[in-house]
Amino acid sequence: MTFERDRLYVGGEWVPSSSPSSIEVENPTTEEVLGHVPAGTASDVDGAVAAARAAFDGWAGTSMAARGEVLDRLHAALAARAGDIARTVGLELGTPRKVAERVQAGLPLTVLRGYADLAARPVPEETVGNSLVVHEPVGVVGAITPWNYPLHQVVAKVAAALAAGCTVVLKPSELTPLVAYLLFDAADEAGVPAGVLNLVTGTGPVVGAAIAGHPGVDMVSFTGSTATGRAITHAAADRIARVALELGGKSANVILDDADVTRAVKVGVGNAFLNSGQTCTAWTRMLVARSRYDEAVSLAAKTAGSYSVGDPFDDGTRLGPLVSAAQKARVLGFVERASARLVAGGLDAPLPSAGHFVAPTVFADVDPASELAQEEIFGPVLSIIPFDSDDDAVAIANNSRYGLAGGVWGSPDRALAVARRLRTGAVDVNGGAFNPFAPFGGYKQSGIGRELGQYGLAEFQQTKAIQR
Ligand code: NAD
Repeated sequence: MTFERDRLYVGGEWVPSSSPSSIEVENPTTEEVLGHVPAGTASDVDGAVAAARAAFDGWAGTSMAARGEVLDRLHAALAARAGDIARTVGLELGTPRKVAERVQAGLPLTVLRGYADLAARPVPEETVGNSLVVHEPVGVVGAITPWNYPLHQVVAKVAAALAAGCTVVLKPSELTPLVAYLLFDAADEAGVPAGVLNLVTGTGPVVGAAIAGHPGVDMVSFTGSTATGRAITHAAADRIARVALELGGKSANVILDDADVTRAVKVGVGNAFLNSGQTCTAWTRMLVARSRYDEAVSLAAKTAGSYSVGDPFDDGTRLGPLVSAAQKARVLGFVERASARLVAGGLDAPLPSAGHFVAPTVFADVDPASELAQEEIFGPVLSIIPFDSDDDAVAIANNSRYGLAGGVWGSPDRALAVARRLRTGAVDVNGGAFNPFAPFGGYKQSGIGRELGQYGLAEFQQTKAIQR
């Protein structure tokens, strides 16, 4: 496995960029240079879009079942690289080994397998009166992805788009571009037809902006920050290109007075700090019924204090570093400015001397209107807020410009009733497990559209009515 990559993947070939510049990829645990990838250009994007356009009619003209066979081969080639995927994400992002294996490698393989299976048994065409309703691929897709689940976020788009019959130009995050190369190695080996899947690495303002504004791109599928999602929507608006956005979150974990508080807090802290808190669905606000509040605060502080921080390749490590020095500085800024009661972690907790580490940090008595409770921090920082009734809990939970995920704990009927009232795209009741085939996406400024499973496939389709 090499971390020195000097090629883009365009039209089924490994090709050089039009510019000799490269991007340095850092290991956030050691702060050493891990490898390099090409700093692609707008002209590289032109070439990749041309290749994707040239391949579109042929790929769109194949049956979904035939595309499922290609995805099946791609899955086999990617599964053979599972160990390399986990190791690469451990090195370029700092995800602890077990989570890297289970989530960073395991989840995209599950999602890809799911799309291969879905394509193998397409939904039958529907008739409405004298109309035949058919679903067709939307066209050339520009996929732009972030660094926190760097292969999963790519596969969620690519597998669904390919199953639908679209062709793709991908730009992965410049902070974690190496794992995407393993997908393209697999695609090359699996014989994905030339031009169907193209890779242009580079920065957001150069390659990302070129994709978002390209007249040959019919749809932009983006995962990342709300600010960038807004810029991409503006860029796509002039040509009325379709946009799908998976953006930020500030999700609430609501613990009712009849909940199993011990479990709710332990699972809640684990959720908030997964991937060092760099998870868009993280339950970063813990809302607790006042009668159980003190118990929950002390348990959350104790749980956070028990998490070991360090080298992601040490088996005892629960929290690795943040992805970059800039991300660490941003997160510490929120901690410095906070005016709530610090009960774990903070600025003075002991940490390894090298690496972009932040201690697992818990604040209690957080004002629901404060920066801490309103802004997406994207680091291991949990805010605990008391509430006085179910109505109060719902009002606090929904007092957010985001609406991505959430949790509710309590007696099943009552918890379900609260879950229905949360204005978010997903809610887990009493620790219900993440479902990689269920629709995933946000309300409000958390996004537009849904990924995963059949709903994710539909995002990449147009609907046509043929009257007879
Ligand atoms: P980001 O928005 O800075 O970058 C995401 C991608 O967009 C990167 O590939 C980047 O190069 C590119 N980009 C940056 N500027 C661009 C521009 N002007 N035009 C086109 N592309 C551009 O986000 P990030 O820092 O990589 O990720 C962290 C953020 O992403 C957090 O806010 C997090 O909540 C959000 N996120 C959301 C989800 C979700 O599914 N809802 C998943 C992961 C991350």
